[in-house]
Amino acid sequence: MIIDDQHYDIIIIGTGAGGGTLAQKLAPTGKKILLLERGDFMELKDQNRAEVDIFKKERYRSPERWYDPHGESFSPLNNYAVGGNTKIYGATLQRMRERDFEKVEHQDGVSPEWSVKYKDFEPYYAEAEKLYQVHGLAGEDPTEPSRSAEYPYPPFNHEPCIQKVVDAIAEKGLHPTSLPMGWTRQDDDPTSDSEIYGINPALKHPNVSLKTSAKVLCLHTNSTGTEVKAVEAEINGQSFLMFADIVVLACGAINSAVILLQSANEKHPDGLANRSGQVGRNLMKQQMTAIVQLDIASNSGKFSRSVSVNDFYWGDENYAYPMGHIQNTGGLLQDVIFAESPPIFSVLAKTMPQFGLKQLAMRSIGWWAQTETLPDTNNRVRVSDNKIYLDYTPNNVEAHDRLVYKWLDVLKSIDKQRASVYPRGEVPVQVVAIQSGTCRFGEDPNTSVLDVNCRAHDVQNLYVVDSSFFPSSSGVMPALTVIANALRVGDHLISLLH
Ligand SMILES: Cc1cc2nc3c(=O)[nH]c(=O)nc-3n(C[C@H](O)[C@H](O)[C@H](O)COP(=O)(O)OP(=O)(O)OC[C@H]3O[C@@H](n4cnc5c(N)ncnc54)[C@H](O)[C@@H]3O)c2cc1C
Repeated sequence: MIIDDQHYDIIIIGTGAGGGTLAQKLAPTGKKILLLERGDFMELKDQNRAEVDIFKKERYRSPERWYDPHGESFSPLNNYAVGGNTKIYGATLQRMRERDFEKVEHQDGVSPEWSVKYKDFEPYYAEAEKLYQVHGLAGEDPTEPSRSAEYPYPPFNHEPCIQKVVDAIAEKGLHPTSLPMGWTRQDDDPTSDSEIYGINPALKHPNVSLKTSAKVLCLHTNSTGTEVKAVEAEINGQSFLMFADIVVLACGAINSAVILLQSANEKHPDGLANRSGQVGRNLMKQQMTAIVQLDIASNSGKFSRSVSVNDFYWGDENYAYPMGHIQNTGGLLQDVIFAESPPIFSVLAKTMPQFGLKQLAMRSIGWWAQTETLPDTNNRVRVSDNKIYLDYTPNNVEAHDRLVYKWLDVLKSIDKQRASVYPRGEVPVQVVAIQSGTCRFGEDPNTSVLDVNCRAHDVQNLYVVDSSFFPSSSGVMPALTVIANALRVGDHLISLLH
C-alpha cells in the first residue's frame, strides 16, 4: 500500500454531473482539492458519436459485470471517464416541477416530500442553466415551474420532421414545448458536459489536481467511526491511501452506495453511514419506453432532441394520478439509450425487410415516454461476495402504460398518411442511465442517509453529491437537479471553509 504524503482539504471522488460541478464551484476557494476518477479522458471521436452500429454493438457499457436478482450477469450502461455519464448523455437539462418537491399521491403509492423545496433550488437551477449553457424557451409549458431568469440561450429550431408533429399536435390543443438542452455552441464538441464546464475550469486553479484511472475501493474511518480518515484507491494496479479533511462521494447513485457498503467496519457493521439501513435502498430507474413513429419523409437520422410534451405529466381527464413526460429522442442514429431497446428495430426489420437498419432509422422519429418510479426499499443495490447485485422491480406500471398508449393515440390522431407503425420497447435492466435514490437526504437520521446539506448523518466529514440524494425521482430528466444540488452543497461547503 502506498501512502500519499499530501494532505488535502477536500477529496472529490467521481467527476460526473455532481463531482465535476462541485469541483469548479470549490476551486476558487484556494483549498487543496484532489479529484479521483476511475476512468480516463475520453477522446472526442468516442463521445456522443454514433452511426448505425449503435444498434449492433453494446456501446458505452462498462467492462465489469453486475448481477440481477436471479444471478444473471450483465455489463451496465455506465460510462467511466472524466465527465462520467455526462460525456454520453442527451444533455436534456430540465428543472423538476414545484409539485415534484411535495408529497404526491400516485396509483402505486406516495412520492415523498423533499426537505428542501423548489424555491431553495431555484437560484441553483438558474446558476446551473448558465453554467451548462441551457437553451430553452419559457412560457410554453403548462407544468413549467416559476423562474427568476430567462433561459441563457434561445432554443434551436426543430428538425422539419419534428416541426410537422409539433404543428399538428398544437392544433389539437396540446402544448409542445422546446426541450431545454445544454449546448456549447462549438461544432467539434457541441454537448455541454461536466468535463467542459466542471473539470476543465477547476483544473485551471493550481490548488486542484486530478488523478485518473483511480478507482476508489473503500473509505476508512477513525477509531470511533465519526470521521473518514482515508480514501483507499487502486491507481494503475497499485493500492493507495489518501487523506483529507472532507471527503465527497460523487460516483453515481449505484457506485457511491457500493463504496459505502464496501466500507463496513466495526463501528459501521452494515456499511458506512448506514445506521438507517437505507444505503443502497430506494434505487429508482425512471420507467422509460422508446416509441418509434415511422415517417414517409426521410430525415438525417442525426439531429438533436428538441421537443417535450407535458400535458399528461399530472394525469389526464381519465386518470387522476401523474403519468409523466414525453420527449423526442433526436435522430435515431445517435441515441445510445434508444439503441438499448432492440425489440423495436428487430420488429421493424422483420415487418419491413426491404429496408436496411440505417434507412429505417432515417425514416423514423423516436419518442421517449418517461414516468416517475416510486422509492421502494426492496429496490436496491447489494454487495455480496464482492459482487454488485441490483434487486429491481419496476413500479407505477399502469401510470406508465397509460402514458405510452395516450401518446400512441396522439400520434395516430395526426397521422394523415396512415404510414406509421408504433411498436414500443422498454428499457432493460442493464440500462442504469437514469439512476437515483440510494442515499436519500432528509431531516430524520432513522429514515435517510444524508442530512439536508448532503452530509452523512453518521459521519461528520462525509458528503454524497450525485444522484444518490433524490428522495423521489420525478418524471423529468435528473442531471440539472444533480448539477443544481452540487452548486447548493458547494455554497454550504464554502461557508464551512471560510
Ligand atoms: C446514454 C445516457 C443518456 C442520458 N441522457 C440524459 C439526459 O438527456 N438528461 C439528463 O438529465 N440525464 C441524462 N442521463 C443521466 C445523467 O447522465 C445522469 O443523471 C448524471 O450524469 C448523474 O450524475 P452523477 O454525478 O450522479 O453521476 P455520473 O455523471 O455518472 O458520474 C459518476 C462519476 O464517478 C466515477 N466513478 C464511479 N465509480 C468510481 C469509483 N469507484 N472511483 C472513482 N470514480 C468513480 C465515474 O467514472 C463518473 O465519472 C443520461 C445517461 C446516459 C448514460
